[in-house]
Amino acid sequence: MPGTPSIAAILLSQLLAMVLCQAAFAQVDEDRPTTDLPLPEGIPPLPSDEPALCIGEFLTPAQGRALLDRRLRLTTSREDWDAYADDIRQHILRGADLAPLPRRTPLNPIIRDKRSHDGYTVESVALEVVPGYWVSCTLYRPAAASQPSPGDAFPVVLCPNGHGGGRLADYVQIRCANLARLGCIALSLNLFGWGETPDQAVKRQHLYPFALTAQTWTNMRALDFLLSLPGADPARVGVTGFSGGGTQTFLLAALDSRVTLSVPVTMVSAHMFGGCCCESHKPIHRGPGWFTNNVEIAALAPPRPMLIISDGRDWTANTPEVEFPFIRTVYGYYDASNQVANVHLANEGHDYGPSKRKAMYEFLARNWNLDLSGIRDAEGRIDESGVTIEPEADMYTFDEDHPLPGGALTTWEEVEASLRKLQSP
Ligand SMILES: [Zn+2]
Repeated sequence: MPGTPSIAAILLSQLLAMVLCQAAFAQVDEDRPTTDLPLPEGIPPLPSDEPALCIGEFLTPAQGRALLDRRLRLTTSREDWDAYADDIRQHILRGADLAPLPRRTPLNPIIRDKRSHDGYTVESVALEVVPGYWVSCTLYRPAAASQPSPGDAFPVVLCPNGHGGGRLADYVQIRCANLARLGCIALSLNLFGWGETPDQAVKRQHLYPFALTAQTWTNMRALDFLLSLPGADPARVGVTGFSGGGTQTFLLAALDSRVTLSVPVTMVSAHMFGGCCCESHKPIHRGPGWFTNNVEIAALAPPRPMLIISDGRDWTANTPEVEFPFIRTVYGYYDASNQVANVHLANEGHDYGPSKRKAMYEFLARNWNLDLSGIRDAEGRIDESGVTIEPEADMYTFDEDHPLPGGALTTWEEVEASLRKLQSP
């Protein structure tokens, strides 16, 4: 598929991010002790003078499996898991420097340049996530959602992007446009400061740990925006992304109870923690007396429906035997084993390609009672060809004729200062 990044490019991005990340770490709070810590054998001791980070493939596959096995011996009921989940959520929020959550400020959405295609519309959007920081997005709506009738209710899907191509890439446009043709309102977001589009307020400022804070808060604010749109259905709120976007997907589902369905793609791994600053360079996995991994974080979603998409050529290769059985067991504590599914594509690699998108469309349609006929061909197969791939320059929210608002912040330090003001009493 044109525009789909190669696994080599994504792995190189992850490696670069790990090498280049700056050590602008925040102070870790003292955490409550956890008496039963199922640490696998052989992991490095907790550092005494800096935050404990689990970066990239911090565990071996055997260690990751052992961690999950031991966790299930310690948490054997819904009551156990509820208590553990509450602890882990607090650790993640503190580790991400999002405790307390910032106050919500007006998003002052810029929505412009509506383009009409076959059954859906596309608009260029920017949201003021915190005062002065604007994130550029693309909004896809079913044609009927532009002027909804009383009683209309459209599911919303947040589409955070990873490091491979992002919002302008063909494969992302195809996915979001087909979501709109399926009847959903979809919002595709830029990474914080990654520089994948020329219309970013903050450019090339991604490789600092603050990116994790910024993106997690941005996704929460993007949900605020989606749910404010006419016809948005708060009972059907999805999030899906792959690679770094997969990390954002399970983090948001874990932390924001408004998410009712999630589809993390190629990133739920027992041993791989994400290599980029925005995934693992804040202490969201480990601290004094606690240790978690991305499988446990994904398992904070039950009983809400979740589809885990994995493949045979990256760190999700063991999903059918390791990660998925763990998560299904936790869903079982909630009598919700039938709400979680795994589509494993053993002969595929690290992407969000056509077969993975098909699995996602079908999961959404099944859970949300959507009509797939709008994206099926005469033989009943998923047919994504009815969408228009837009030229990149047509998708910029900001350009020479539409400049950034005055006073827009352009560095991560400025954005962090703005966000911190919203956390003070
Ligand atoms: Zn990143």
